[in-house]
Amino acid sequence: MNNCLFCKIINNEIPSEKVYEDGEILAFKDINPAAPVHILVIPKKHIDGADELNQEHTELIGKLILTVKHLAEEYNLDKGWRIVTNIKEHGGQTVRHLHFHLLGGGQLGDFGLR
Ligand code: AMP
Ligand code: ZN
Repeated sequence: MNNCLFCKIINNEIPSEKVYEDGEILAFKDINPAAPVHILVIPKKHIDGADELNQEHTELIGKLILTVKHLAEEYNLDKGWRIVTNIKEHGGQTVRHLHFHLLGGGQLGDFGLR
């Protein structure tokens, strides 16, 4: 049984505020936004994280990043924005389903060691 939170969002078992969807990709608003615009872009196929990517995912990665870019345009983030993907414990990954954070809408801070 798949107990993944984001797979449940994909399957509509948990509600989300969707902002983009196609056959391979879903984008929805982060429930605990760290910036005025904070959207999560995920593949519908479960992949644990960026550490599990391989050559087979080349096209999918391109589509995911272009989706982030298109959303940045849609949300008028012309002053700048950020893509983040956290990986495992030290990277701060709390949901083990690959996702790209789109952050923007204001001046973002630095990040590094806690
Ligand atoms: P990360 O910490 O990089 O794994 O990011 C996981 C993100 O998922 C966090 O920013 C959470 O706020 C967000 N999140 C957790 N549960 C939900 C949910 N039900 N709907 C939308 N975003 C969520
Ligand atoms: Zn999943």
